[in-house]
Amino acid sequence: MRKKLLEGRLKAAGSQDRGHGLYGEGRRSNCEVLVIGAGPAGGAAALAAAQAGADVIVIDRRQRIGIPVRCAGFLPAAAISAASLPDGVISQKIRSMLSITPDGHSEECSSPGFMVRRERLDQALIAAASAAGARVFTGVRAISREPVQNLIPGVRSHVRVGLAGGSRQIEAGIIIGADGPLSAAGAWTGNVNSAFLTAAQWTVPLRDESTTIRIYFDRRLPGGYGWLFPRGKEAVAGVGVETRFGEKPSRALKWFVSGLAAEGLIRKHPISATAGLIPVGGILANRSKELLLAGDAAGLCHPLTGAGIGPALLSGRLAGEAAAAHIRGNPGALTLYSREIESMMGDALREATLNRRQMYRNSGGSVSEFCETVRQYWFGFSRNILDKT
Ligand SMILES: Cc1cc2nc3c(=O)[nH]c(=O)nc-3n(C[C@H](O)[C@H](O)[C@H](O)COP(=O)(O)OP(=O)(O)OC[C@H]3O[C@@H](n4cnc5c(N)ncnc54)[C@H](O)[C@@H]3O)c2cc1C
Repeated sequence: MRKKLLEGRLKAAGSQDRGHGLYGEGRRSNCEVLVIGAGPAGGAAALAAAQAGADVIVIDRRQRIGIPVRCAGFLPAAAISAASLPDGVISQKIRSMLSITPDGHSEECSSPGFMVRRERLDQALIAAASAAGARVFTGVRAISREPVQNLIPGVRSHVRVGLAGGSRQIEAGIIIGADGPLSAAGAWTGNVNSAFLTAAQWTVPLRDESTTIRIYFDRRLPGGYGWLFPRGKEAVAGVGVETRFGEKPSRALKWFVSGLAAEGLIRKHPISATAGLIPVGGILANRSKELLLAGDAAGLCHPLTGAGIGPALLSGRLAGEAAAAHIRGNPGALTLYSREIESMMGDALREATLNRRQMYRNSGGSVSEFCETVRQYWFGFSRNILDKT
């Protein structure tokens, strides 16, 4: 089957073909595993599938892998060991977290982890996948999944993709949808994220280097929080808000950064600015026949903390392994993927979704009510009820 699938295969020029390989040599290309999205989930999926011997195509709509960065880059140590991160990805270690409410209460707790350079993480994963044989095409956007018209052994999906100068079709045995919060692949299966924080952040000069991440809660940041994550002599200062409460992320960020500058923590000069969506609605169904979802596309970002890099890496790897095992003739591999994700993350993410609703239920109340409720549900406060359930 593999030989047949590889007929007409297009040769990608290098690890980050800009779509010309797909476009220039005919209207079709094919693969055993099509990975849509080259973030941490897609990179981990492509690497695992290619290492297991599958013929893999990865596409990403961005021109450059990992850029622009839409992430603050904090990775809890529990999510991954430093040894398994590629060289040059860690920018500094984190030891603790300070959680702060607007009534002046703050509490520090141990929170070991790493600040990572997200663009380098994404690029390193894709470079490793490419070295393992995956063909990588940037500037290529998945548009639609079309019915399979001609019977080619092993081909289960035709995916229409858009790229500079036109569109074309990729024939795939299995699709891994790793295309983030607004996943096109998820939409094809009816599994879409429904609740989001809209986030905006600046990289700013930090007055004193630190190994503590700071989390600020405030009614002016409804449904979310503000963060200050140190990265050497700089820091990432950002906010995530639920826009349905009428707050604009850009306005909230300016207010938040002014407060940090007034506290003497940062200089209010943006070195760079980014924005993005954080899915906080919880876990979605992640399989529909020969299509698997991973990372944010599968709703695996933690609804309370917004942490999604770790689950993206884990689910991506498992999806890639499952896809390769299925191609090799293991009929239960795709079902097993869904079961593994459910057993590892299902209950925790569903509970976090409920707790998130509870935590912000007093956003419209008095400052003291708001602070009390946040302290009940945020794990950085010793009085939180989560540790006791
Ligand atoms: C501002 C901000 C700060 C954050 N900070 C943190 C943090 O500190 N720690 C943490 O753990 N998490 C953080 N997160 C969440 C984290 O970034 C995500 O959970 C993580 O990136 C999910 O990885 P992913 O691979 O599933 O999706 P993504 O990283 O979103 O990657 C999806 C890829 O798919 C591509 N794509 C999308 N649609 C298509 C299409 N139709 N065709 C082709 N390609 C497509 C995109 O270009 C992208 O490269 C933050 C998120 C935001 C927005």
